[in-house]
Amino acid sequence: MIDSLKEKIEKSFLFRPNKNQLRDLERLIFEIIRRENCSLDGIISYLKTNSDSEKYNGRNKFFALKNALIRRRFPLTAEKEKIDTKRIFLNQIQQPLKDNYTVHEDFKPSKIFVEKEVKNSYLVRNFSRKFPDIKIEEINLYSDYLNTSRFHISRLKEPIVFLVKEKWDFLKPCPCTKVHLSCGYWVLNLGFGCPFDCSYCFLQCYANFPGIVLPANIEDFFTEFDTLEKKLKKPIRIGTGEFCDSLALDEITEYSTKLIPYFKDKNVFFELKTKSNKISNLLKITPAKNIVISWSLNPLSIIEREEIATASLKERLDAARKIQQKGYNIAFHFDPIFYSDAWQQIYTQTISDLYSQLTPPFAWISLGTLRSNRRLKTINELRFPKSNIFYGELFVGEDKKLRYPSFLRRKIYENMVKWIKAYDRQSPVYLCMENKDMWSILQKSSSMEIEKYLLQI
Ligand code: SF4
Repeated sequence: MIDSLKEKIEKSFLFRPNKNQLRDLERLIFEIIRRENCSLDGIISYLKTNSDSEKYNGRNKFFALKNALIRRRFPLTAEKEKIDTKRIFLNQIQQPLKDNYTVHEDFKPSKIFVEKEVKNSYLVRNFSRKFPDIKIEEINLYSDYLNTSRFHISRLKEPIVFLVKEKWDFLKPCPCTKVHLSCGYWVLNLGFGCPFDCSYCFLQCYANFPGIVLPANIEDFFTEFDTLEKKLKKPIRIGTGEFCDSLALDEITEYSTKLIPYFKDKNVFFELKTKSNKISNLLKITPAKNIVISWSLNPLSIIEREEIATASLKERLDAARKIQQKGYNIAFHFDPIFYSDAWQQIYTQTISDLYSQLTPPFAWISLGTLRSNRRLKTINELRFPKSNIFYGELFVGEDKKLRYPSFLRRKIYENMVKWIKAYDRQSPVYLCMENKDMWSILQKSSSMEIEKYLLQI
């Protein structure tokens, strides 16, 4: 677009933008076209009537054009407040990768590596039984693979499996995010990587290798937790779904069959969080009320476009119903929530689907609007040409992440809480990675208060 844009701007506004100015204008126009499906000529006509550019020269003409584009690109925010241009993230336009590895619904590894120390583990036996035609290659450490193999983001989802001995990163408090109220969650680090491919997944920014790492020494996690448990003065909430999906590979790893019997007598709420319907192991285990199985929910149109290879909404709700009938505690996460013109209609429908099929109370329901670091916007454009999540009204927030502005997040949370409460006044609803101001919607003002509310103590 850049050549024709430069020409059109020079001709229409008698102004020759420099390289950086042209890049900003091009990015804004590109995003407006993605949002509105309009033409470049249509935007040039809009600028002629809405920018007052004829009153200015040089840099000021550029700012007049840029500000007019910002008003069109962020219409809801422009109507509410003066937009601080420093909070707009205008990255270079990316051409989608031609060789990006795409995931398949049925996960099948292309290669399996096992660290020597765990070559006799049950996990190795499970993988060789399930995939007898895939050779399992022995390595000293999986970091050896990282040192010898060049990584490119297009390879992120190549289905390579590393069966490893985890040595230190077992357990940690959820880092939440700067300047936000934490809910006191703990993360059990049972693997890194996921067979699903969500366009907003933050793992894309942190992975420096393809595939999935799975620890084979799960008993060491229990030893580590035994130590932590002695120091605990109150119950905690703990879960495994931070760097992986808790159940997507459970039929192979069988982690749930070890975790649930271990945690069922502990003074914790132990959560397995998923976008899958892989519940066969859970149905064979005796449930306990402190074991929480939870599903992330989004409207079907979003699941199909942004959560590649995950279970459909119906499959998730069907699985949740079976799990609830079996006697487990269940929970739901509306996270991330995306704002669009149709958001009210699609989210009220999803909430209605949830409550028509499942009976509250649930252990908890979390709400979180889209947030991401800036690099993810670039990765998203490279890997997900059909995704449109970064063309919403996102600004760089206090924690340097891209988020919807406060007034929009407040509107989303207030409405989601209202729609949920219309069906269910018992399940605790909480906000994920939000500030004190947003938490006032739920009349909570400190992390301690939030923890007590979620633990119902
Ligand atoms: S299910 Fe979770 S871990 Fe897996 S790709 Fe989606 S967001 Fe990432």
